[in-house]
Amino acid sequence: MHDERVSHEGTTDRRGEADVDAKKSQDAQEILDAKEILGAQEILDARASVDAGERKPLLLHACCGPCSLEPVRLLREQGYEPTICWTNPNIAPVAEHDLRLRTLQAWAAEVAHVDVIVAGDDRAAWERGVAPAGWDRPRRCRACYALRLAESCRVARERGFEYISTTLVVSPYQLFDTCHDVLFALAPRFGLTPVWQDFRPQYPEATTRSRELGMYRQNYCGCRFSAVEAAVDRQHARDARKAARAQQRAAKKNAAPVTHITQEITA
Ligand code: SF4
Repeated sequence: MHDERVSHEGTTDRRGEADVDAKKSQDAQEILDAKEILGAQEILDARASVDAGERKPLLLHACCGPCSLEPVRLLREQGYEPTICWTNPNIAPVAEHDLRLRTLQAWAAEVAHVDVIVAGDDRAAWERGVAPAGWDRPRRCRACYALRLAESCRVARERGFEYISTTLVVSPYQLFDTCHDVLFALAPRFGLTPVWQDFRPQYPEATTRSRELGMYRQNYCGCRFSAVEAAVDRQHARDARKAARAQQRAAKKNAAPVTHITQEITA
């Protein structure tokens, strides 16, 4: 009886395995056929829209296109469906602001298939509330985060979102803890749950992918103060590289063989 049962189950298992294999190859063939008919991208789009229905809607404040790549990917993997909210009145000049917004919108529509809400960009409020902090970067950035995240929270509440997050902390150049404090202070006031994670480890990947996609990549945070600060930092970096090269050349020269130096002296 025992052996019979084992034998019977063994047969069933083998049949079961054969059925599973047959199903797998049928599925594979159907996918290949569908790919030929629809194209691979449409299959992915169809899959994304099925998955999107099962994910939790989240409003994602985005500072720019390149910084949105990895948060959108990771949040989807974690069961959220982001809708992007653009509110960045900090970006100067206006032409730069518009270029960053267009870059984000093009990627969102053509690559990520994510909706973008263009919320308020109150430049006068930025001048009143943020600019007076001037070169005091911690104070200035705190006020800047607060302005943009408060507008994002307002939009999230108005549109019925429960979760909110931001792409601000992809860049290692941002003030991570300050941004965390601001989001966690604001979100509950609007009845929202902040979704927080350290996206900074994804910065190199975001850099590579955005370059591959040919996206516009800015070299300063956004405001006129940051444009100057970034230019000064780049100059310092250039000076440091120049000094290092000069040091290397001097070290090489000092390490030259005695015969070579003798030849130089007698020449
Ligand atoms: S450096 Fe960036 S975060 Fe700070 S105030 Fe300027 S634009 Fe805002």
